Amino acid sequence: QERRRTEETLRATQSEMIHAGKMAALGQMSAGITHELNQPLTAIRSFADNAQILLDRDRLDDVRENLRQIGTLTDRMATITGDLKTFARKSPDTVGSADPTTTIKGALSLFTRIARARGLQIHDDLGDDLPPVIGEEVRLEQVFLNLFRNALDAMEAQSAAVPRRLWVTAETTPETVSVSVRDSGPGLSPENLHKAFDPFYTTKTAGKGLGLGLSISERIVNDFGGTLSAANHPGGGAVFTVGLRRAEADRRPMAASA
Ligand code: ADP
Repeated sequence: QERRRTEETLRATQSEMIHAGKMAALGQMSAGITHELNQPLTAIRSFADNAQILLDRDRLDDVRENLRQIGTLTDRMATITGDLKTFARKSPDTVGSADPTTTIKGALSLFTRIARARGLQIHDDLGDDLPPVIGEEVRLEQVFLNLFRNALDAMEAQSAAVPRRLWVTAETTPETVSVSVRDSGPGLSPENLHKAFDPFYTTKTAGKGLGLGLSISERIVNDFGGTLSAANHPGGGAVFTVGLRRAEADRRPMAASA
């Protein structure tokens, strides 16, 4: 009886802790969303107030500019709520297969234009013969673009004298394809390593980062049965590894049972 009572107390304590944890996460998330949405909202309000004064003074070009700014700010708010939808969405029941080479090269070609202008050297060691993986190309491209942008941001925070380099490599096992994105930036601090995947965790200045990139990327990769991990490279810089499941490996047992 004594043991049963202890077990009951333990179970009650555990469920209280889970509840407290959920409430804390909800609080943190609400604070983040409120903060991010309030900034553009306040700005829209002042642009609108200003536009009325400008209209009274017949300064139509300035009114037009204010309206343009309001448009940009609503786009920004739409991006925030759009990103949040990724969290609300249920994982898809079935996912097709994607060609990792096409996907990553697609992301790289979108990124190269931005990168070249900022003096970044890209070392693409992917090869052309990576096997298909479980996933969806557009969403995977979003993951890689986010990793490339983060790498560039980290390197730009350093002195311009430090060479900016990005390496993209892949490793294949019978079950998985792991793609690593390494940069020559400052690497990840212990706090970054601990918190980088938390929603709304960012070390970037307001307006530059929302802190949602990695948590959304992790969510996407998890939807495909894969993993996303972060580490410091022994040679310096951060390395993010996207581990994806091979599509053929997944289909093999199904074919055998058919
Ligand atoms: P955001 O880019 O909006 O800050 P992320 O979730 O993509 O949000 O990243 C969270 C944080 O992780 C960044 O603010 C940064 O501190 C850290 N981080 C991500 N990628 C790197 C990297 N390649 N090198 C160093 N720090 C990084």
